[in-house]
Amino acid sequence: MSDKIKLPKSIKVGGIYYDVYEKEIGFVDDNTLAGIHKGCSSEIKVDTTRAAQKVLETFIHEIVHATDFTCLGYDLEEEHVELLTKNFIQVFVDNNLQLNNDNAKLPKKIRIGPYEYKVVFPYIFKDMPGVTAFSVIHENLAIFLSDREGEDIYKKDYIKFNLFTAIYIVIINLYRSETGISVDFKIASSALFQVFRDNKLEEFIKKYW
Ligand SMILES: [Zn+2]
Repeated sequence: MSDKIKLPKSIKVGGIYYDVYEKEIGFVDDNTLAGIHKGCSSEIKVDTTRAAQKVLETFIHEIVHATDFTCLGYDLEEEHVELLTKNFIQVFVDNNLQLNNDNAKLPKKIRIGPYEYKVVFPYIFKDMPGVTAFSVIHENLAIFLSDREGEDIYKKDYIKFNLFTAIYIVIINLYRSETGISVDFKIASSALFQVFRDNKLEEFIKKYW
């Protein structure tokens, strides 16, 4: 709850630096538009005169477009961008993932949409030792995370990435759209993980929501 938002001047998407511009209402011909993403010139423009949560949502929405453009082959439909934007905002607001703090303990529960998923960690996958890093069982509202492959202990940021990917899978499955998302889940989740982490967007959303 929310001071006036000051957007960062630049964000990093994959290896690309995007310039971020704060604009006024009506900055494009169609003044119903709250934001715009221009892939070829690496620009994001957001109407910052609107209510704080709307500005924040628009900013994240355009960042998801930028991630799609830069890392995912520009394959996402508008409804997928909306789905990922709204749900990741909810996940960040309602939980304390601390994506940037690898030493933080993993949460025992995670609220995703209307559901509360149990996080079981460390979990040993007995059937497939050394193969499965994580698993999601929707019927049990549970996410299982391993901490090793054979003798090798996972790095903490890899465990966090697996948790993030599990959340991505839950979001896609909860709200599977008519068309489905064609992008491979690991490619999409690793791209979003990088963008959310490098730009500290979890902290940014929590600060202003
Ligand atoms: Zn859009």
